[in-house]
Amino acid sequence: MEPVASDVFGCLADGRPVERFTLDNDLGMVARVMTYGATLVDLLVPDRDGVPGDVVLGFDEFARYPADSPYFGCTVGRVANRIAGARFTLDGADFRLAANDGNNHLHGGQVGFDKVLWTAAVQSGAAGQSVRFSYRSPAGEEGYPGNLDVSVTYTLTGDGVLRLDYAATTDEPTLVNLTNHSYFNLACSGSVLGHILTLHASRYTEPDAELTPTGRILPVAGTPLDFRRPAMLGGRIGRLAGGGYDHNYVIDRAADDLALCAEVYEPCSGRAMDVYTSEPGVQLYSGNFLNGLAGKGGRAYQRHAALCLETQHFPDAIHHPDFPSVVLRPGETYRQVTEYRFSTR
Ligand code: BGC
Repeated sequence: MEPVASDVFGCLADGRPVERFTLDNDLGMVARVMTYGATLVDLLVPDRDGVPGDVVLGFDEFARYPADSPYFGCTVGRVANRIAGARFTLDGADFRLAANDGNNHLHGGQVGFDKVLWTAAVQSGAAGQSVRFSYRSPAGEEGYPGNLDVSVTYTLTGDGVLRLDYAATTDEPTLVNLTNHSYFNLACSGSVLGHILTLHASRYTEPDAELTPTGRILPVAGTPLDFRRPAMLGGRIGRLAGGGYDHNYVIDRAADDLALCAEVYEPCSGRAMDVYTSEPGVQLYSGNFLNGLAGKGGRAYQRHAALCLETQHFPDAIHHPDFPSVVLRPGETYRQVTEYRFSTR
């Protein structure tokens, strides 16, 4: 297998260099990942004629990431999505977190895992080229207890799969719920409202006005959230408040291993992406807060320029004992696997 190429993508304000790694395969796919935020920067995928195109939003220059990124491609942690009231109680102790989304804590706080520098190690295995990013989050960081050792490994396989393997351990009880926040557009430009989406989810966690769960788990049947059969993302989006989809779906799964949670198809390019995950939930976010941000190639990213499929435990799980737990204790290992499988038709 070819060695993994790397370069310096840019430098942080304190002078530390940010490395970027290029993974490729014989299908013509290329994935570029960087140490800042353990972020997926570019993902080139051929269309049905074999012409590669970049299917993720981002920036051409590194400096735009710290300055402007709405979580493009990054690893989100310690806890993805919202924690209501930016506080929680664990084993009788109260913890206060940064409130960086109104009253609530979002995507790990002011300086979440998306804004720190990770350490990279290149790996080449039978499955394909890989980069493993690791980070030690010190106890107290963003208000969370416990030193947390966390890693995420990106692997680009020879058969068209971008696989993410996450792991974490702690020395005190704490919370962990990691995800990746890539913004996908399988047409590589324009809006994603014409993408055809299938979600293998019959239920969702009802959000309140601040997008934190009410605690109720409701059926999608009869609502614009129902993607159990393939449907255009934009077909019913106008019936939603808040500019589009921003909902955590409860994945229908038969077994405990990887489940197919989402299928995306873009009819003009022929690109298709199937998302498999170990997680109980997936957040469908339709880029509602994009508002003309200038991205790669000077392109203006308007509302609905991309969709995110954030595989995760349910938002605010610490306040809902009937949701799958996000508590990690010493001696346990947190694991999360998500695969994005690409093809054309
Ligand atoms: C959340 C949105 C949030 C966005 C930030 C998504 O995961 O669900 O509410 O605005 O991330 O980019």
